[in-house]
Amino acid sequence: MVSNIMMSVDMDEWYQCRWATGSQSAYWQDTASFFKDYYKSNKPAGEIIPLTEVILELFDRFDIPATFFFTGEVAGYYPHLVKKVAACGHEIGCHNYVHKDYNEGNPEEFRANLHKSKALLEDLTSSEVIGYRAPNSTVSPYMIESLLAEGFLYDSSVTPTRSFRGKFGNFKDAPKHPYILDIHDFAREGNSGLWEFPWPVFPIFRLPSGSGIMSRIAGYTYTVISMEYTLREGDTVYYFHPYEIGPKPSLPFKKVNTKVFLRNLGEPYRKMLIKLCTRYRGRFISGKMLYEKLTRQR
Ligand SMILES: [Zn+2]
Repeated sequence: MVSNIMMSVDMDEWYQCRWATGSQSAYWQDTASFFKDYYKSNKPAGEIIPLTEVILELFDRFDIPATFFFTGEVAGYYPHLVKKVAACGHEIGCHNYVHKDYNEGNPEEFRANLHKSKALLEDLTSSEVIGYRAPNSTVSPYMIESLLAEGFLYDSSVTPTRSFRGKFGNFKDAPKHPYILDIHDFAREGNSGLWEFPWPVFPIFRLPSGSGIMSRIAGYTYTVISMEYTLREGDTVYYFHPYEIGPKPSLPFKKVNTKVFLRNLGEPYRKMLIKLCTRYRGRFISGKMLYEKLTRQR
């Protein structure tokens, strides 16, 4: 059977990245202080809306059913965008409520925000939300039980790679194909009932891949080599963000890692994305479709 690629879009805006507002070491303390400082407002400027419309057109052109992972916060700013994406036939997934690192230190906050976000997204779309993606791909073992208790059927947050600059867990021995998680371990296959759809890796040193970020930093060939390598083992994942096809934001600071992170934003990445959509045309499915395919096979 031919392996598929779960196409996904993480609906966070650029200011929710770890270096902007999404971590302890971020430039702004949180999105509220960012809005005040950057937009002189108490809400965001809607940059994500026209970019999402471009993505919807692209997916329509290439007949790609995808999963859009919304944070509750972003869904609250743009409820019509959630409805529009769902009305176009795409799956709505949950990206927690606030885009930040949830780890061993905040299980109660994780669970409360998870619940709040899922309820809001289900209310907006009048359908069940079954897929989860962790902000900043930060996961901790306790989350598996919480995700099951909240009614999730799959997670797609694991890169089977080693920890890198505070990102990714130590998952270098995790399977590269979709698997059912062990109840206490994101890196191990088990019988918890919660599926994991891991991201692809590059064959040498299992470097992370399958994201807009890695495509922009390491290039198209790197992405294709990783996709081919991982597809040989089974279904895999690709994800990107709307801001990656947009203009470079003007920032009040210069940091080397931010410069790397924003490399090839806009037109160069949009072209790369079209090349990927063309190359793998017919093989993209949503997370929900992948879940249905895998459960049918068992
Ligand atoms: Zn995100």
